[in-house]
Amino acid sequence: LQTLAKPPLTLRLCEPRGFCAGVDRAIQIVVLALKKYGAPVYVRHEIVHNRYVVEGLKNLGAVFVKELTEVPDDGQPVVFSAHGVPKSVPAEAERRELLYLDATCPLVSKVHKQAMRHMRLGRHVLLIGHAGHPEVVGTLGQLPVGAVTLIETEEDVEHFAPANPEALGFVTQTTLSVDDTAGVIAALGAKFPALHAPSSDSICYATTNRQDAVREAAPGIDLFLIVGAPNSSNSMRLVEVAERAGAKASRLVQRSIDVPFELLHGGMNLAMSAGASAPEIIVDEIVAALRERFDLRIELVQTAVETENFPVVRSLRETPLTGA
Ligand code: SF4
Repeated sequence: LQTLAKPPLTLRLCEPRGFCAGVDRAIQIVVLALKKYGAPVYVRHEIVHNRYVVEGLKNLGAVFVKELTEVPDDGQPVVFSAHGVPKSVPAEAERRELLYLDATCPLVSKVHKQAMRHMRLGRHVLLIGHAGHPEVVGTLGQLPVGAVTLIETEEDVEHFAPANPEALGFVTQTTLSVDDTAGVIAALGAKFPALHAPSSDSICYATTNRQDAVREAAPGIDLFLIVGAPNSSNSMRLVEVAERAGAKASRLVQRSIDVPFELLHGGMNLAMSAGASAPEIIVDEIVAALRERFDLRIELVQTAVETENFPVVRSLRETPLTGA
């Protein structure tokens, strides 16, 4: 019997892609807490925006809750997610004498500090970000009500009328589109020339690097796959960046089952990247599913080498890692 040759397909694979140092650290904190304290370990909100990761941690004994009110006083710890939390959350945990572990990414904490610095210097704070995202809720909650205004779009800039246009400072969500944010900042700067920037960019290295690699890989691509969840801000931004940078289409996929195989045919050019909360195992799963159907040629598009590593607190690191 003669076997039919598989049709050829080119896949550009972006590098860097997938887990960032903040996500890696947050997951480690939950895993180490489970080893140290045993199950259950409560986790306020999805530790990172990825169902696969959340299900994996649930299987190890993590219990995900929306609010602290759902955490019983049973002596077990509660972990705050990588996105950061309003100040009222640790304050409430302390009032209830709950044992809590803060997995807020250090780069989100840096934005919190920059916002507080603006306020200390007498500036009204503008947070550029998306309403309702947990990171935005957390950053807004660092400051008293009335001290900070959320700006989502250039239109919001037009409508914003501060009491003192001479005393304004901005920070941004860490996972925005680099290009969109530049537009909003330019609009703010044009309207309020005295606007103060944060001491360093709020958009984090992982967001910038993943968008750069997607921008580089996108020209000439028929379909750009972005591995990530719909509630993952940085993944959604990668979908937009891919299309803007020249991909004919871009699609968010959570697992290989979401890949529109019916649209693929031999000779197509595909590309793939993964948001900062998407594990590499799903990229591997999709590559394997493509190989089953096509004669796959992989081209690596590498735009940066990442060496960032955020260590977890020493008390957790010193937990013996042997045993169950
Ligand atoms: Fe931290 Fe950036 Fe990762 Fe968010 S995307 S957890 S800010 S490194």
